[in-house]
Amino acid sequence: MLVFIRGKSEIQKLEPQLDSPVKYLKGVGPRRAFLLGRLGVATVEDMLYFFPRAYQDRRTVRPIASLREGDFATVAGTIKSLRASRTRRAGELVRILVSDSSGSLVCTFFHQPYLKEQFAAGRELVLTGKVSRYRNLQMVNPEFILVGEADDGSSEFRIVPIYPLTEGLRQPALRRIVKNALQSHLPLVPDMLPAELRELWKVIPLDRALSSIHYPPDPAAIQKARQRLILDEFLLLQLGLVLRRRSAAARPGVPRLDSSPALLDRFLQSLPYRLTRAQDRVLAEIQADLASGRPMNRLLHGDVGSGKTVLALAAMAIVRANGYQCAIMAPTEILASQHHLTATRMLAPLGLKPVLLRAGVAGKLKRESLEEIASGRAGIVVGTQAVIQEKVAFDRLGLAVIDEQHKFGVMERASLKKKGRSPHVLVMTATPIPRTLTLTLYGDLDVSVVDQLPPGRKKVKTYWIGSDKLPRAYDFIRRETGRGRQAFIVYPLVEESEKLRLKAAREMFGHLRESVFRGLRLGLIHGRMSAGEKEETMKRFRDREIDILVSTVVVEIGIDIPNATVMLVENAERFGLAQLHQLRGRVGRSEAQAYCILQGNPRTESGRQRLEAMRDIDDGFLIAQEDLEIRGPGEFFGTRQHGLPELRIGSMVADVRLLEFARRQAEKIIADDPGLSRPRHLPIRERLLKKYRDRLELIEIG
Ligand code: ADP
Ligand code: MG
Repeated sequence: MLVFIRGKSEIQKLEPQLDSPVKYLKGVGPRRAFLLGRLGVATVEDMLYFFPRAYQDRRTVRPIASLREGDFATVAGTIKSLRASRTRRAGELVRILVSDSSGSLVCTFFHQPYLKEQFAAGRELVLTGKVSRYRNLQMVNPEFILVGEADDGSSEFRIVPIYPLTEGLRQPALRRIVKNALQSHLPLVPDMLPAELRELWKVIPLDRALSSIHYPPDPAAIQKARQRLILDEFLLLQLGLVLRRRSAAARPGVPRLDSSPALLDRFLQSLPYRLTRAQDRVLAEIQADLASGRPMNRLLHGDVGSGKTVLALAAMAIVRANGYQCAIMAPTEILASQHHLTATRMLAPLGLKPVLLRAGVAGKLKRESLEEIASGRAGIVVGTQAVIQEKVAFDRLGLAVIDEQHKFGVMERASLKKKGRSPHVLVMTATPIPRTLTLTLYGDLDVSVVDQLPPGRKKVKTYWIGSDKLPRAYDFIRRETGRGRQAFIVYPLVEESEKLRLKAAREMFGHLRESVFRGLRLGLIHGRMSAGEKEETMKRFRDREIDILVSTVVVEIGIDIPNATVMLVENAERFGLAQLHQLRGRVGRSEAQAYCILQGNPRTESGRQRLEAMRDIDDGFLIAQEDLEIRGPGEFFGTRQHGLPELRIGSMVADVRLLEFARRQAEKIIADDPGLSRPRHLPIRERLLKKYRDRLELIEIG
């Protein structure tokens, strides 16, 4: 099929192709192409895969006389009269009176003055919308189709798609474009599933699915279409993960490391405590990985305060003793410098001197660090994203540790890995993920869980108070600091601009220092301070030269000050559940009883649920479940959280059954045909490569 587009001065001949830019579709000029771009639609294929967010069922037309206030309904009638006017408050409005044989209805359109050109007495139209009352019954800004001029050439009386919009692009135009795309390009869409698999899995062909997802003949067709499209999406994802795992396992071997060098014993002996049983178990798993002759690829899960850091250090001791370099990357400067401090202190008995690599430090110091790393003299390197910058070259990187991995993307994990030939990789996180999803989110990793807190830990007592009780909370903090303990006070600081925020933080701090906590030593820490300033403040807090640390969320993750026993979070309703759990995790890191006081006056239901959950639940896994339920999967799994590509239609939570099904099928397919090279798998392979090859370095089958 050939399409001719006649331009002003040229005639272009085009083969219709799925990956042609969307501007080659009928009805799409440069302006619309730009607007579609804002919706993430670049190619014709993107357009076909641009799914409705909802549908409108216009199949049943109601007599106007039967309408009641509050109904959502479709009516059909004739325009009896038309009036365009302007009001001060509402701007331009167009009002029409529509009648059918049973009665008449007023329809008011705000902010669409051009409609007066389209409407005229005598024209027939179909309207869908909510019935409200303003003197008489009316519809405000209903969806409509002029009879004989259906916006997309289809019948007025059917189920129509409602697409996500962007300013400047309206529903009818979008419908028309999608309709055109379906007409011209649907026949080109290859179905990656052979008929026998479709039959076995009881799914419909892809072209039918794409057509019904946009224009379903009936509601059941939407379900069938969704099922097919979701399955495709999940299957590709799972194939990618299964293959990635396989290719990791098949990577060239690495030297087997002596996994219990004398150095490790010395390290363990120098600890002020004994490892918990859970820590022992995980350490053994790490040792086995390092000795296996294959690169370790392990995820270390453990609730806040379970003691993951020491395990990373133990792994480093092993790898370093074998002559390799180690790097640990943390998402914030404060955490990186804390790790540097901890590593320096704990590895000193082994004669190791970790190097801290900071972003933004230039000059001689930086050059020297880089040199030490490149020459291999630096055995242990600690840093933020600075570690993965191009300039940083290792001599022989043997182990890459990523702390608080949920704050990084997959890309960063990959970059750090690339700094060595085939380094062992250990990623750590306290953000627990419901079990059914672990396999998917971390499908290419082995998982270890530190499911036990160090002995003597007491449950952090959590209170939820209104602002009227703040003075009592302050009294309580005074009492605790009087006993030699320390406290955090965290503000969300919601000011519009950084500048205002800084001002608010400073003012709050001034107020607390001058009046509320007069006589106590207060410190302030926030994101706008330089790395050096932050480090200095944290050091003073750690050395107990500061009693109360007033802070923005920069202390959210990883910070470990065992002597701190109170965490006061003001306006806690503004924080997410995971964030609150992390903040609470800053205290309760010793045997002393710790307290978390959440001050909040939530105005939303979900805000209230969050604070209640925090008050009632202390287990991180349960908190995560709750979080998932309150926030819904979309937000819970931001792309950054797990680094996986955004799904267009499937939901890892709502469609978990299909997800698991796809996993099983992917495993079966790969077990049977690892290279996806059988003729019947070739279309799947092609699709997979297209989708993931460059995005996630997932696979090495190409
Ligand atoms: P997280 O798992 O949140 O990263 P950390 O590694 O920061 O936790 O450890 C939390 C605190 O627990 C630290 O102060 C650490 O020294 C201490 N700790 C770790 N393991 C043990 C243990 N086996 N016994 C006692 N304290 C421990
Ligand atoms: Mg930690």
